[in-house]
Amino acid sequence: MFPEMRRKAQQLREDEARALLEAGSAGVLSLAGPEGYPYGVPLSYLFREGKLYFHTAVQGAKVEAIRRNPKASFCVIAADQVDPEKFTTHYASVIAFGRVRILEEPGEIQRAMEGLGAKYSPGLEEAARREILDSAGHFLVLELKIEHLTGKRGK
Ligand SMILES: Cc1cc2nc3c(=O)[nH]c(=O)nc-3n(C[C@H](O)[C@H](O)[C@H](O)COP(=O)(O)OP(=O)(O)OC[C@H]3O[C@@H](n4cnc5c(N)ncnc54)[C@H](O)[C@@H]3O)c2cc1C
Repeated sequence: MFPEMRRKAQQLREDEARALLEAGSAGVLSLAGPEGYPYGVPLSYLFREGKLYFHTAVQGAKVEAIRRNPKASFCVIAADQVDPEKFTTHYASVIAFGRVRILEEPGEIQRAMEGLGAKYSPGLEEAARREILDSAGHFLVLELKIEHLTGKRGK
């Protein structure tokens, strides 16, 4: 169902692709936007056990798009090194495809938020926990369950 990569020599193993997802700090979540225009929105994320987690406001274009159609992809650029003399760019990137659901269960929301807090504000777990409690009801947590993951390195 998902297209094969044509240039197999540049395809990363799945464990390498997962390592890039673990190391990255932002990517672009692509959704089916209104009027047939794809909507790609940059987001911070947490990668854990084959799933991606995002923290977002309760409303907005991305949440509306997900409610209309949960199918999505998420792309992280892990390297982007322009080599002008060789007219090329040395790059590494990953694309994860899957369906997004809005988490409802408080325990799942808490675990994802604590994971995001630990990733982006290490050492501030207690303050992050208070922040999560204070903003309860004013945010959503999205979970993208990865169905297909590819990584590519252009040398
Ligand atoms: C590195 C990075 C990390 C981010 N991390 C998060 C995060 O973890 N959680 C989070 O909620 N947001 C994050 N943002 C902001 C995010 O990109 C969106 O702006 C935000 O989530 C609002 O999205 P929305 O669909 O609700 O937009 P809305 O407020 O509904 O606005 C919709 C319209 O605004 C425009 N728009 C929205 N966002 C952007 C943008 N970033 N750049 C240009 N145009 C835009 C588009 O044209 C879109 O049609 C991050 C942005 C960056 C660059």
